[in-house]
Amino acid sequence: MPSLSTEANRQSDVPLAGLYIHVPFCSAICPYCDFAVLVGGHEQRRHFVDSLLLEIALYADLELSGLGPVCFDTIYLGGGTPSMLTPDDLGRIFDALRRTVDLTADAKISLEANPEDVTSASLQAWRRLGVATLSLGVQSFDGDELRVLGRRHSPEDAIRSIKQAVAAGFDSVSVDLIFGLPDQDTSTLRRNLEQAVALAPDHISSYELEIHPRTTFGKQHARGELHELPEGQQAELFLLTHRVLAEAGYPAYEVSNFARHPRYRSQHNQKYWRHVPYVGLGPSAHSFDGQQRWWNERHLAKWQRQIEAGHRPVAGRERLSTQDLALETLMLSLRTVAGLDLSSFEARFDFDLVAHNRALVEQLDREGLLRLHDNLLAPTLEGFAVADGLAAGFSLQGLGRQAVRSTSRSIDKRLDRQV
Ligand code: SF4
Repeated sequence: MPSLSTEANRQSDVPLAGLYIHVPFCSAICPYCDFAVLVGGHEQRRHFVDSLLLEIALYADLELSGLGPVCFDTIYLGGGTPSMLTPDDLGRIFDALRRTVDLTADAKISLEANPEDVTSASLQAWRRLGVATLSLGVQSFDGDELRVLGRRHSPEDAIRSIKQAVAAGFDSVSVDLIFGLPDQDTSTLRRNLEQAVALAPDHISSYELEIHPRTTFGKQHARGELHELPEGQQAELFLLTHRVLAEAGYPAYEVSNFARHPRYRSQHNQKYWRHVPYVGLGPSAHSFDGQQRWWNERHLAKWQRQIEAGHRPVAGRERLSTQDLALETLMLSLRTVAGLDLSSFEARFDFDLVAHNRALVEQLDREGLLRLHDNLLAPTLEGFAVADGLAAGFSLQGLGRQAVRSTSRSIDKRLDRQV
């Protein structure tokens, strides 16, 4: 397997960041999808890669504010459907990265793929290119559910692709599932989970279906043609997912992520939850340097125009106040099994969270949503089900100088899939 390392240039004190590349193409647009995606032909994909190489060049000698030069130990190709790029185009991207940015010797590459793109030839090509983790967008093993979701693969494609990927020798194979479809009941979900487990992937992600206003589902919902599963049933499916997967040997390590061993946890996605810096390339990709977050132009043509004019295609940025960072840290930590390390929080923000919120912590403990032990504040399974609301009640009064403001842009429920 080829090494991506440019470690000769690496200084030992350079922080290890994550690199995300958004590939915006799909063979069709799923009715629930809110990502920056489009259906593009071969020429458009080739042009995108040409532009991406220029964008990579704009990040030569990258320095992040307050951090200096940066070295990457994870590269994640998401989208969209990165598996639609040819091995030749993927090779051009990896060559450009190798030439331009600082990578560790063991930088881990993850690639999202749709089941219909998985063949013996594509698997071999991805392995040759150094892909360590293959993440398969299966979503369901039920033919009716796949049709509702507008997916192009069949249950048989899903099963075949996982079997082939598991046999191909990647470091890790991950399977993405979606739950909470309108009318989904516990028996269909249980069958999906049991089928996934039977195929023995290393990692499973299970995301709740969200209906976004701009999507086909959103428009159908607004016209009253599509209903959301009631909250109580959503919660039931969420708890079922966690129980079935834990019993099958896939304990959760984050609200939506499950691994059959800690070594299969997503190294890249954990950077988002731990406020480790990351750089995103491609349309709509987000970056974070520990203090500032910035995001690229969402539309392919605008993104390309900026790059071709020699500019980094940044559409906007925000500087996070100390309170923003503290609130994000709290929210993101309470979405993980590890929870919040109170000593680290106090050392970083000079704020004793529990002392300022004792009554709330005791109440959440009585309600069985949070546990405080060994200086860790960790959610229970029931707490996980309401993870996004858990942090909302905490007071950060007296921390930093600026008022807490909405962090809805900053904390996307699907941060681990970028935005
Ligand atoms: S859900 Fe995935 S496969 Fe479907 S359009 Fe969006 S990015 Fe593409």
